[in-house]
Amino acid sequence: MSRRGTRAGAALVALLAVGVVSPGGGAAGEAEPPILVVDLHVDIPYQVHFKGRAPGLPVGHATPKTLKAGGYGGIILPIYIPDKARPTGPIIEDADAILATIEAIVRETPAFLPLDARQAVPGRVSTFLSIEGAGAFADDITQIDRFIDRGVRLISPAHASNTRLSAAATGKRVSHGLTELGKQFCERVYAHGALIDVSHLSDAAFADLVPIARAHGAPLVATHSNARAVAAHPRNLTDEQLREIARSGGVTGLNFHAFFVTGEREATLDDVVKQLDHMVKVAGLDHVAIGSDYDGGITVPSGLEDAAALPALARKLRARGMPREDVLKIFSLNALRVLGWRPAHSPTTSPATQVPSP
Ligand SMILES: [Zn+2]
Repeated sequence: MSRRGTRAGAALVALLAVGVVSPGGGAAGEAEPPILVVDLHVDIPYQVHFKGRAPGLPVGHATPKTLKAGGYGGIILPIYIPDKARPTGPIIEDADAILATIEAIVRETPAFLPLDARQAVPGRVSTFLSIEGAGAFADDITQIDRFIDRGVRLISPAHASNTRLSAAATGKRVSHGLTELGKQFCERVYAHGALIDVSHLSDAAFADLVPIARAHGAPLVATHSNARAVAAHPRNLTDEQLREIARSGGVTGLNFHAFFVTGEREATLDDVVKQLDHMVKVAGLDHVAIGSDYDGGITVPSGLEDAAALPALARKLRARGMPREDVLKIFSLNALRVLGWRPAHSPTTSPATQVPSP
């Protein structure tokens, strides 16, 4: 395990303590303080790297102001590599360039703690990394090691299109799920201490991943997907997939994109609660998290217009009788649990996937 991984683990434990201890329950009649949020998918880097937003985040769904109002204590900043980043497809250097942008964002936004912070700090947002669309790593899968060493915790082998690693959640029938190289890639990611994100994988790729994750004792994580039983879309998960994620100890991050919430162009806060209800009913309270997809070009539901609206979702859940501790699980503790995952032991089956000692 890398030294950086150990430090991130310490920061997580501290953040956990902040979440449990700091925003205590309000006195009777008082408005409750915001519940700590750790959001598994916020596309700030996409806006800054590709859409010209200033790295200090003056506008957007997630700004220093909205994150503070929303009670955010942690955020995953995805290295999102568009399939069409260049005419011949993305290359690994694109991931390096986007990571450099994320470093600039974190540097220029005082609300954010550095990526390698040792301690969570109340009032500031801990930052974590993921990769969304890792198809370019088919050029050299060993290159993923250095990204994991830099702190990447979750990696999606595909985005909107099929890659040389995996079929994507397009709903179109293809003859494979994970490719042979894709299986080696997933093995490598787990062995090196990070997790695979299933949010953009096809059903066949999801099925291929299950035994690999199990062999590594790794939780299955969908950072930003909903229930297909409520909104029929290939990007959403079947009830059986939600249960499989739960059995693995993983989580599914509730996505706020209207189309994934209702299957229609519009959605309301109540529709989001309906999705959440179903996901909790099927997967259980310990296996649902928040993966808003804010700033990802989404259509936001009315009542959840930006990151400042998370307390409105909490109030809705509380008003329907959900205990504060349960809301805290969904809003942050479940996400922190999977972010803190590390392999129990170095693999011994294949020398090629051995983790080097620090
Ligand atoms: Zn996505």
